[in-house]
Amino acid sequence: MSAFWTEADFDDHELVQVVHCRKSGLTAIIALHSTHLGPGAGGTRFWHYNDPAGAMRDALRLSRGMSYKNAMAGLPMGGGKAVILADEQRIKTPDMLAAFGDAVEALGGRYVTAEDVGISEADMVAVAQRTAHVSGLPVAGEGSAGGDPGPFTAYGIFLGIKAAVAHKLGKDSLAGVHVAVQGTGSVGGGVARLLAKDGATLTLADIHADRAAALAQELGGDAVASDSIMGVACDVFSPNALGAILDDDGIARLDCAIVAGGANNQLARPHHGEALAARGVLYAPDYVINAGGIISVATEYLARRDGRHGDVAEVRALIEQIPGRLETIWQESAASGVTADVVADRMAQQLIGRAQA
Ligand code: NAD
Repeated sequence: MSAFWTEADFDDHELVQVVHCRKSGLTAIIALHSTHLGPGAGGTRFWHYNDPAGAMRDALRLSRGMSYKNAMAGLPMGGGKAVILADEQRIKTPDMLAAFGDAVEALGGRYVTAEDVGISEADMVAVAQRTAHVSGLPVAGEGSAGGDPGPFTAYGIFLGIKAAVAHKLGKDSLAGVHVAVQGTGSVGGGVARLLAKDGATLTLADIHADRAAALAQELGGDAVASDSIMGVACDVFSPNALGAILDDDGIARLDCAIVAGGANNQLARPHHGEALAARGVLYAPDYVINAGGIISVATEYLARRDGRHGDVAEVRALIEQIPGRLETIWQESAASGVTADVVADRMAQQLIGRAQA
């Protein structure tokens, strides 16, 4: 068995802790990639892994991703992530959540947790019984920061798409701009609504075909089968479902000028950034354009920690900085010939004090 710190996904993480509580049955990994800019923030994933090494890989990879995302969002937060290893039946008990809360509390605020796949707002409320280092809790009242991050993520993506259209197509309006949206859930559905309001032409797809069809009918667009959305001739392809869709096959099928959407880890492999650029496609690095949700979650946490009232206007103002950040990346990419994803990574590494020599 090889040690995890010799694995490719280990990136000088500051702390990797395996938590096991015999009484509650909790097994979890908490990974803190960097606290250079502030407490390591990132959600908790509750997932059944066939192989525990897969859980370790997820914790290492996702916590590094949070360092980059939080840095590029301009947040005073580092990167962390937790995974709770679920059994095959995915049984989650109050005792497990309490034990997990105790483990987060024991880190004294170095790690701040929130929801991720398999963890609900109610679960975070349970964790918050044991530690203050939690975000993603129910909103305190009208106009307060917090709550479901999906609409905030969608708002940032919408602004990012507008910036991409201005940069690549020279248009300052979305009227008649054709956007193909993959995934019409919390994020993709929100993006589609905002785009429709601005006059974009929409083609939508979801593996739940009825979901895409209903939204297309409501917003006045077309719905297509989920396996054909990547080949739709359009101005913008907006992936808001799965990661790793930009692989050799996916990139070959694209018929668009721009890829800008909220799905995490869109590039299947690092070299796919080059493959996109070679096809002349402008790419909005995923963790830069989809930071609206973490901006909301972090603002909620920081306000509560500092005894302030965080409000939605503060969150929106921070999200409105996303287009400027993307523009800087694209300009730097054009000037240097380095692809946009690599430019973003280098900027993030610089911000977290890990610039490569
Ligand atoms: P969601 O579960 O609400 O929606 C995802 C949608 O994608 C669902 O409707 C699902 O049926 C559909 N889908 C799944 N596979 C598909 C496929 N192959 N083709 C077409 N549709 C497919 O999830 P969400 O919160 O909207 O998140 C969407 C993506 O955005 C994920 O990759 C997530 O990691 C990322 N993201 C979400 C947030 C957030 O605030 N929710 C923040 C950052 C990144």
